[in-house]
Amino acid sequence: MLRRTFVTVGTAAFALSSIGIRRIAWASGSELPALGPDGKQISLGGADVDDFRAGLRGELLTRGQDGYDAARRVWNGAFDRKPALIARCAGTADVMRSLAFGRAHGLIVAVRGGGHSMSGQSVCEGGLMIDLSPMKSVHIDPVAKRGRIEAGVLLGQFDAEAQAFGLATTAGTVSHTGAAGLTLGGGFGRIGRRFGLACDNMCAAEIVTANGKLLRVSEQENADLLWGLRGGGGNFGVVTSFEYRMHKVDSIMLGGPLIYPLAQARAAFSHFADFVQTAPDVLYADAILTTGPGGQRIFALDLCYSGPLAQGERVLAPLRSFGKPIMDGVRPTPYVKLQQSADEVNRHGRFSYSKSGFLRRIEPNMVSTCIEHVSESTVPAGATVIFAHHGGAISRVKPAASAFFHREAQHSVLVLGIADKAEDAPAATQWARNLWKAAEPMTNGFYVNEVNGDDPEKRIRGSYGANYPRLVALKTKYDPTNLLRMNANIKPAA
Ligand code: FAD
Repeated sequence: MLRRTFVTVGTAAFALSSIGIRRIAWASGSELPALGPDGKQISLGGADVDDFRAGLRGELLTRGQDGYDAARRVWNGAFDRKPALIARCAGTADVMRSLAFGRAHGLIVAVRGGGHSMSGQSVCEGGLMIDLSPMKSVHIDPVAKRGRIEAGVLLGQFDAEAQAFGLATTAGTVSHTGAAGLTLGGGFGRIGRRFGLACDNMCAAEIVTANGKLLRVSEQENADLLWGLRGGGGNFGVVTSFEYRMHKVDSIMLGGPLIYPLAQARAAFSHFADFVQTAPDVLYADAILTTGPGGQRIFALDLCYSGPLAQGERVLAPLRSFGKPIMDGVRPTPYVKLQQSADEVNRHGRFSYSKSGFLRRIEPNMVSTCIEHVSESTVPAGATVIFAHHGGAISRVKPAASAFFHREAQHSVLVLGIADKAEDAPAATQWARNLWKAAEPMTNGFYVNEVNGDDPEKRIRGSYGANYPRLVALKTKYDPTNLLRMNANIKPAA
């Protein structure tokens, strides 16, 4: 039964239950109901919360405060969770205080960089959300070719600053994704086959470990932890800043969409699957089955050739001359524009359910299975399958050289059931589950940044492969109580 008390804030009285989920607002000085891991109920002392707030340079938000609802919102609209506390960190000291508070009070802790976790890992119900989004500085050193960013920076902000100096490093394909989460799980994108994963380019970082140590990691300092941060996700601590190797790239690249009607999907997809096996590192090509702007089902290639333009025209000619595309939008385009080209279609707030897996190559069976499922008469409007491009420089790093294990993969497949309205989400989810049941046996491990809340532990272990025991040792050293568990979780040794 819920215990109800009444407290006064200014002149207004608010109903307050002792269980965080039901509470309406919190008054300074009063007890604050919260949740620990596994739903354990916790009552936070009012004075403790007030002290926490007073010690932060950024804001500490509780329910009912201005900005609370905006701060708890993440990319995936399916996750409408209400943390007891949101610490909007202004810098490293705020992160240290937040982790210490979460640890001391046994709270469930979520860490938010750009908020793009597909399975809502960056917002928790009833616990502490450590929100890094106010930490937005970007510094590019064009001489040393190094980029340093704080943990709240989005990819588009990083790209824009770096391109002012003709530089870039590997980022994802949607510019409103957070650099922090993307890098810690791996990070592939339009120039990844040329320069490696984002995490391969991360040469140093500053981290507050879950057990409270502020460390600099690099090849020279705490190199074991740098190894773990390159693909081990947010398991060990909160990274407050990242340093990357930057690369000289042409600001204009040959890229854009090549779109076929679904009727040509089978032939065009098979042609693409053969073509892409010998693609040069400077070519990035995603293959997508989805719904076009007019509501028709389509097969689309999203291309980016980052080498010389004339050479790109020649390399792409066999793809562009195949069949009868309904649109060929491949043209010389600023890199930053290509990086924004999928922003709207991947807008915030839609309801998304996803599953993913790595592929050594795109086999005919996988193509048939996906086309069959998107061709169903009852297919939901937001049913989408994306084959992202790996390989190239990503595959030339040894699996044991960093926590990112699945270096052999040439592609990953991501099945998405997306809905604009909550009432359409169950059908979209069911469609994705049905396709995944048929597709999963053809995959090998999955990208930890695409972890789903219903992924069993065995599957998560598999995605870290033979690196798992070494990751467990790191987890035990830096997060022995598993404070940071809202991720593709590595369990510390008992
Ligand atoms: P958040 O939701 O903020 O964080 C996700 C998780 O990362 C957190 O739960 C936490 O565990 C961890 N984390 C975040 N910041 C920190 C930190 N500073 N310290 C410690 N842990 C932290 N991935 C690609 O590689 N390439 C792509 O092209 C790509 N495209 C995408 C497009 C869309 C529309 C979406 C939704 C995702 C895409 N992804 C892509 C996946 C993306 O890499 C992950 O969703 C990633 O986690 C996003 O990072 P974030 O900071 O925005 O996420």
